[in-house]
Amino acid sequence: MCWRGYCLGREVLVNEHVLINMEILRHNWTEKEILDVYKTTFLELIYRAASIHRKFHNPLEVQVSSLLSIKTGACPEDCAYCPQSARYKTGIEAHSLLPLEKVVETAKRSKKAGATRFCMGAAWREVKDGHEFDNVLEMVKSVNALGMEVCCTLGMLTESQARRLADAGLYAYNHNLDTSREYYSEIITTRTYDNRLNTIRNVRKAGITVCSGGIIGMGESIRDRVKMLLTLSSLNPHPESVPINALIPVKGTPLGNQKPVSIWEMVRMITVTRIVMPKAVVRLSAGRINMSKEGQALCFLAGANSIFAGDKLLTQPNPEVNEDLELFKLLGLKARKAFKGYKIREEAL
Ligand code: SF4
Repeated sequence: MCWRGYCLGREVLVNEHVLINMEILRHNWTEKEILDVYKTTFLELIYRAASIHRKFHNPLEVQVSSLLSIKTGACPEDCAYCPQSARYKTGIEAHSLLPLEKVVETAKRSKKAGATRFCMGAAWREVKDGHEFDNVLEMVKSVNALGMEVCCTLGMLTESQARRLADAGLYAYNHNLDTSREYYSEIITTRTYDNRLNTIRNVRKAGITVCSGGIIGMGESIRDRVKMLLTLSSLNPHPESVPINALIPVKGTPLGNQKPVSIWEMVRMITVTRIVMPKAVVRLSAGRINMSKEGQALCFLAGANSIFAGDKLLTQPNPEVNEDLELFKLLGLKARKAFKGYKIREEAL
């Protein structure tokens, strides 16, 4: 008997264009299949994603994460969307690595406010062995000791650095693909797509869970979005966490004048992510500040089950914790416990 009566072990979807015989946990999606899913009529797509979501996850639970920039700005990379690149004049306040006490204090506050995952971001091209990395390892140990899932995003990482982070208690490492391999050079020229995939491999080899997703609204085509999801879904296992960001155009960056992404595009991207990577925690990330409550509710229905809470997302504004609590109450959602890790329901295999 399937949970909640849905039988999705093998689903047949019929819409006016496609008949898809779909295995739901797959690593061999083709570009055409994902494109067909992407183009499914909106309400059908929501229904399908919501059904899969209920199969693999408790739809009333949402992971609440907190993100702290432990080192801000002066980054040598040229990511076209990023206000922290030293190449663009964006007026952000740069600072060097925060002291351990400040990080732990912030983590404690976040935990008290309901966050179960604490992410630390440093604007580095790559991790360099030395005292700063040693300090980050101490931060990981200390936050882990608070009983929170600890995540870091520190740039490129070697296998031995990943192992040291794992030994310190790191639960997740974020390294986004950002976009498709084909569009990537329009966004970043200072490192390659293969560099990114290599870091993800190193993280995986060290036994740390992978957090990797992308950004929409950077001028990419639908095909680029599909190809990015194709690359992520071909990873075996899939990333445990997949953030879907809507670009926040920041004045001074090359993408500062991009048109904002519509809620419809965002929901569509979330549904397709949910369908092609059903076990992953899909994170509603940057851009949530511009979404209405109704828009966010649609995203949760479509399979998003993680948010960043707190008034700042690295350097950009984010909804206040109180607003999120209000939204959770309105929708009957509750925060997911730390280290829960969604168990695949047996019948889904
Ligand atoms: S590597 Fe990270 S911090 Fe540096 S410019 Fe790119 S996104 Fe920004």
